[in-house]
Amino acid sequence: MSDLIRLQPEGLVGPGNRFHIDAWGKAAVNLITHAHGDHARAGSTEYWCAEPCAQILRHRLGSDVHIRAVPYRERVRLDDCWISFHPAGHILGSAQIRVEQGSRVWVVTGDYKRDPDPTCEPFEAVPCDTMITEATFGLPIYRWASTRSVTAQIVNWWQRCKEEGVTALLFCYALGKAQRVLAELTHFTQEEVLLHGAVASLTHIYREQGVPMVPTRLVSDGEGPTEGRLVLAPPSAHRSPWMKRFRSVSTAFASGWMAVRGIRRRRGYHRGFVLSDHADWQGLLSTVEESRASRLLVTHGSSDILARYLREVKGMKADALTTHFGEGEG
Ligand SMILES: [Zn+2]
Ligand SMILES: [Zn+2]
Repeated sequence: MSDLIRLQPEGLVGPGNRFHIDAWGKAAVNLITHAHGDHARAGSTEYWCAEPCAQILRHRLGSDVHIRAVPYRERVRLDDCWISFHPAGHILGSAQIRVEQGSRVWVVTGDYKRDPDPTCEPFEAVPCDTMITEATFGLPIYRWASTRSVTAQIVNWWQRCKEEGVTALLFCYALGKAQRVLAELTHFTQEEVLLHGAVASLTHIYREQGVPMVPTRLVSDGEGPTEGRLVLAPPSAHRSPWMKRFRSVSTAFASGWMAVRGIRRRRGYHRGFVLSDHADWQGLLSTVEESRASRLLVTHGSSDILARYLREVKGMKADALTTHFGEGEG
């Protein structure tokens, strides 16, 4: 029997080429796991996504795109397949996509994490025969500390910046990570945080969807003194002309990649906080187990290593799948 979902030059494709999943080329019907740039690309005729993803997708792809927003867990018919979106716990609106045809069930996880995140619905295990899983942090060295303890480290660093009279400039992905930090901060403070424009527009969408976060304000062009303030900005703003408005800064980066020794120094950040929106090694393994899948296709990151581990240690049917996900993300 041929595979329900196959890899084609333009992306993952369903039976009869009727739909794609997170296509990197043009597609007629493009099912989207979430709105990060490596998964949601422009050029498709029609986009389907989980309901809370729709507004972010529109913000990213433009107001004229055709979007069908499907509530989590609702089954939608597409030819001879049933399609449904299930929470992936990665960012607001992120979904695993379940495809059922006859007696076969495949799940494409997209990006996911198992740690609690107040900005989105928690990950749900979806039983299936075959799972296409991500493996961004698919190495045993990746083990995440609790979000609360990492947030406490951020708050301590911010406090030190106040004492030293410098601006605390925290770089993090504008979609998802920034809002997660702003939501986690509510456990420690209600002090206003300043935002780079790219972070501000997405934070506005999260607020509209009822995600509780600390008060925020856009950093203006004629901003007064910012010493002692916390500012959130995307990594692309690091060492850009935008930074010239701040007199003396302490810079930090919040990302799972900060677990890798040397990356922080190479990228020139003063501090690194290990905060990831992906599953760690143990999270990947328990997800594979909970899915009860008999076959695994591993993509997005350390796919060869996780696939080999599943084969050789767990005795599972597992292969790596080469896709374009995970480029410039983490
Ligand atoms: Zn992502
Ligand atoms: Zn990704």
